[in-house]
Amino acid sequence: MRFSATLIPTLRESPADAEIASHRLLLRAGMMRQVASGIYNFLPLGLISLEKVSRIIRDEMNRAGAQEILMSVLQPRELWEESGRWEKYGPEMMRMQDRAGRDFGLGPTHEEMITDLVRQNVTSYRQLPLNLYQIAVKFRDEVRPRFGLLRGREFIMKDGYSFDRDEEAMRHSYQRMYESYSRIVERCGCEFMVVEADTGLIGGDVSHEFSVPAAVGEDKIAFCRACGYAANVERAEYGRRPLASGHDEPPEMVQTPGKRSVEEVGAFLSVPAERVVKCMIYLVEDRPVAVLVTGDREVNETKLAKVLGTDKFRLFEEKDWAAYPDYISGYVGPAGLKGVQIIGDLQLEGARDMVCGANRKDFHLVHVAYGNDFQVDRMADVSSAREGDACPRCGQPMSVVAGIEVAQIFQLRTKYSEPMHALYVDEHGQKHPFMMGTYGIGVSRLLAAVAEQHHDQRGLIWPVAVAPAHLHVIPLNMAEGAVRDAAERLYQTAGEWGLEVLIDDRDESAGVKFADADLLGIPFRAVLGKKFLAEGLVELQSRSGGEKEMLPAAGVPARVKGLLAQDSPSVTSTAGESPVWE
Ligand code: ATP
Ligand code: MG
Repeated sequence: MRFSATLIPTLRESPADAEIASHRLLLRAGMMRQVASGIYNFLPLGLISLEKVSRIIRDEMNRAGAQEILMSVLQPRELWEESGRWEKYGPEMMRMQDRAGRDFGLGPTHEEMITDLVRQNVTSYRQLPLNLYQIAVKFRDEVRPRFGLLRGREFIMKDGYSFDRDEEAMRHSYQRMYESYSRIVERCGCEFMVVEADTGLIGGDVSHEFSVPAAVGEDKIAFCRACGYAANVERAEYGRRPLASGHDEPPEMVQTPGKRSVEEVGAFLSVPAERVVKCMIYLVEDRPVAVLVTGDREVNETKLAKVLGTDKFRLFEEKDWAAYPDYISGYVGPAGLKGVQIIGDLQLEGARDMVCGANRKDFHLVHVAYGNDFQVDRMADVSSAREGDACPRCGQPMSVVAGIEVAQIFQLRTKYSEPMHALYVDEHGQKHPFMMGTYGIGVSRLLAAVAEQHHDQRGLIWPVAVAPAHLHVIPLNMAEGAVRDAAERLYQTAGEWGLEVLIDDRDESAGVKFADADLLGIPFRAVLGKKFLAEGLVELQSRSGGEKEMLPAAGVPARVKGLLAQDSPSVTSTAGESPVWE
């Protein structure tokens, strides 16, 4: 590749709305451009890197026996009605009509489509197991598209689906994908961890996410160094510690004028937040539900959705408080609360000497005990784990870190095959729904995650596996015929050695060439400068740092080949165990 002939519009300045390194640097390195919020064009170098991620994915999928297909982006409404998701997916699914007024969704995921494809074409147990995947564009009208490729509205995903005859075979397929995914993320050069995950809108029981640690990650992962337990905090369990005990006195109503929040009430009554019962009123479908947690915790709405069996709920708003005048905003408490289902967090089991709202404006109750003074309809895990909480497996303190979810896999069982009547016939002529698994990896998000983990102040530092080229040849003074000729020769021979080379053949200053090379982050750089004119030596340097080496131009290709071999991460799998971040 010649810099002079390739579209690489590098930027000196950071684009104003690019908040995070990967977004900023992919733009500045001229690898992509924004079209609209959450929508991007890939330029030549960006596309090369994106394709390299795809190639690694294909390689691992094919090795695991999966078959590549390509499904349509436009998905007929009728298919999504069969699964009930036409309505359930809500505004996140982009929709359109054809000229005849027929509704289509732009595929945010393809469970319905693949289930339909398979039910029409696979009928016998002899055709199983089957694992089909595609690498294709997806559309999701995200509430907050941001962080460049990390959360786009149009993005590239590899989605795959397994079909098996029974549960054991499904688990086997799942395990295989777990291992393949671990290898994919590792080969792309990312540190990662596999964490237990909530199953959300996709559904099913068992799910894992592949999470890349990064400060900008939108997921929080609770993990235990001692035993390796790791789970998204949306789902992570934790051991409750007994609350600091107080006095066993009868409850008493006290005045708390204008004190509404846990902080205000706690400070006013000199009580720690954990001894204040936080009572949140939700409107669940059409009915109010009270959710209790201790004042030092937040309600975990993902866990709450599981407990309620629906995700159609929201916190009370102004108009709801007006509609239910018995509930007094800022002063609701579980003692004497009527006409509402009460769900209590496990931490409240055995809680004594607590403070809660008195259901009367400007009053709270003190010395309240669970069991005596208030009851709940259901005790459940509805709060989030946090730093230092006890691991649910071994009891040791857990850490919470931020991570980018680059992939998620699910055991779906018959969640789609049953309602959609996707059946196969076994050897006795009996019909059964397929046992399915679904496996998604964000191709464009993974590329951004790599960039997030591999950069410095000056630019990107690509791992070899996904770099837009291996070697960046930089002749500093194009006016010198000897430099120009030697650089051209090096460009030629390195290519013949099988290296991917970018030559900066522009008539630019050394400063510009170095700054662009730093931005682009190609792993190795061969500079032909003053030393070349004086002694015929080329300066070879790795973008990730380390010593500069001086060597004759003819020796560069072999040397770079050797260095590339060292730099490529081994593909020995860590699958089966969750690697723990240090
Ligand atoms: P998130 O929780 O981040 O919204 P998700 O759980 O909805 O993601 P899945 O349905 O599991 O995503 O999709 C599979 C993969 O597709 C994700 O692991 C992620 O890598 C990628 N992905 C999902 N949404 C986006 C997006 N808006 N932009 C880029 N990649 C995405
Ligand atoms: Mg997910």
